[in-house]
Amino acid sequence: MRRQIIAGNWKMHTTRAEAIVLTEAIKQALASYDGEREVVLCPPFTSLSAVADLVGDTAIGVGAQNMHYESAGAFTGEVSPLMLTDIGCEYVILGHSERRQYFGETDALINKKLQAAFANAITPILCIGESLAQREAGETLSFIKAQLTAGLTQITAAQVSDMVIAYEPIWAIGTGKTAMAAQAEEVCKAIRQTVAVLYDTATAEAVRIQYGGSVKGSNAADILSQPNIDGALVGGASLKSEDFVAIING
Ligand code: PEP
Repeated sequence: MRRQIIAGNWKMHTTRAEAIVLTEAIKQALASYDGEREVVLCPPFTSLSAVADLVGDTAIGVGAQNMHYESAGAFTGEVSPLMLTDIGCEYVILGHSERRQYFGETDALINKKLQAAFANAITPILCIGESLAQREAGETLSFIKAQLTAGLTQITAAQVSDMVIAYEPIWAIGTGKTAMAAQAEEVCKAIRQTVAVLYDTATAEAVRIQYGGSVKGSNAADILSQPNIDGALVGGASLKSEDFVAIING
């Protein structure tokens, strides 16, 4: 059985002090949580170390929102996988649509980062998702398959079994427009089928597939009850402890 995973993508929000307050509140709210779902917090780089220290003695995990693929070097402004593991970071979100859209990240670059994550024992959360224009043109499934195939170049079956794929339709991110649970399930099922074709059935059954896009307490239960949805990548609603915890309990 796949354990569902709820990850909070804080994006470019929270000062260090605010991140500490938010983490403490989530920690407190989950103090007696049974751990049915895995929980991961992804704060900005400046707060990663503080958040990792705070959750160190709990079951809550920590992830980065991006990273470079090299371990060190002349890459001004970048953060390496080695630096992330050094502070106890276990996950990294790669290929978020905002990175693709605003920072020109390509499938090839994201694939290099994915390979670097595995080389450094960091679990990648690979984001894929179609635009509104692609959905309206009926291209969703073909686009998703192509994006996933490109992202997984040279990634082995064992690595795919351990990673997380986040299906995030761009039109649903930060817009308040959540995909209907059935729409999200249809694409997550297609993602799993694509993994089965690229690898094998066991790998497809093992990989965890999250849905992301305006998930909140009120729609979490519906989304998380879908057979091919193994969790949620949460943006806006992860910035308030009560909203985030409602999703975890959803
Ligand atoms: C995200 O940033 O990955 C996301 C899904 O954001 P939101 O929940 O705000 O739509």
